[in-house]
Amino acid sequence: MTATLIDGAAIAAQVYDQLKLRVAALSDRGVRPGLAAIIIGRDPASEIYLRNKTRACGDAGVHSELHRFDADCAENEVMELIGRLNADANIHGILVQMPLPLQFNSERILHAIDPAKDVDGFSWENLGALVAGQPRLCPCTPLGIMAMLDSTGVVLDGIEAVVIGRSVTVGKPMALMLIARGATVTVCNSKTRNLQDHTSRADLLVVAVGKAGVVNGGMLKPGAIVIDVGINRLPDGKLAGDVDFASASRVASRITPVPGGVGRMTVAMLISNTVAAAEHTLSRAGSAAGQR
Ligand code: NAP
Repeated sequence: MTATLIDGAAIAAQVYDQLKLRVAALSDRGVRPGLAAIIIGRDPASEIYLRNKTRACGDAGVHSELHRFDADCAENEVMELIGRLNADANIHGILVQMPLPLQFNSERILHAIDPAKDVDGFSWENLGALVAGQPRLCPCTPLGIMAMLDSTGVVLDGIEAVVIGRSVTVGKPMALMLIARGATVTVCNSKTRNLQDHTSRADLLVVAVGKAGVVNGGMLKPGAIVIDVGINRLPDGKLAGDVDFASASRVASRITPVPGGVGRMTVAMLISNTVAAAEHTLSRAGSAAGQR
């Protein structure tokens, strides 16, 4: 079997086409969605991610602004900026690029963001809403994966889904979204005894570990759908996912590439969340005016 590629770039392009229409509708009502990104220190990978996010904002017609801090800045300076952005009516989404330099309290900084502007979906309010089955702003990577799965037409009800990785940003929200859609979900982690026992019965396998080659074709159920979230820099400088693509694509029915897979959708969902936050602000303003 040779797997069909789930092409993140092509699916993201469709998402942007839809977003442009929503941005135009907001513009007709005098609103331009705005995203503020905060970066602390100079991490080369973070710089690349931010450049992609800024470019994507431009493509979708979303205003973006970048706020830079030196790695040795005072945490309170960042907190003050977040306070100002929370109050800024032209900003609908705020993100703090992770990872932060070690001396910063990431939890304190992330939780300073107004949950209505938390377009990364990492606040406890937004994660709690997902747990409760009432999703608001959801973490972008699993949200993008759901859009990719939906683009394939796969029916998730009743399938065996295995998620490898239990991070708050990818693995756990991924599992919750799949549970909400009726999948039977197993979540594996670094303590899982025999990973292959789980991977070999997965109709859908999502791998979010951060180790190249942690899954190969011999570990898969024939015909499985394989979603590779990992981004790993190999010694030769090339990027690779967590899944050994060559062997896995001979066994899977569908598979995402790295690069050009999940990463593209993650960025598209960040912009989508920003547009949704702007729409929500407008509808809240409309209902408040209606009540007066
Ligand atoms: P993370 O917070 O480091 O979590 C990694 C998870 O993998 C942990 O739950 C860990 O288990 C588990 N794990 C480690 N080794 C394992 C093994 N041998 N077998 C089974 N599970 C194992 O990482 P993350 O933030 O979720 O990111 C995972 C990867 O996805 C990274 O490569 C990251 O760069 C990439 N990523 C990509 C995107 C994108 O847009 N494409 C977005 C986010 C992240 P324990 O909990 O037991 O330690």
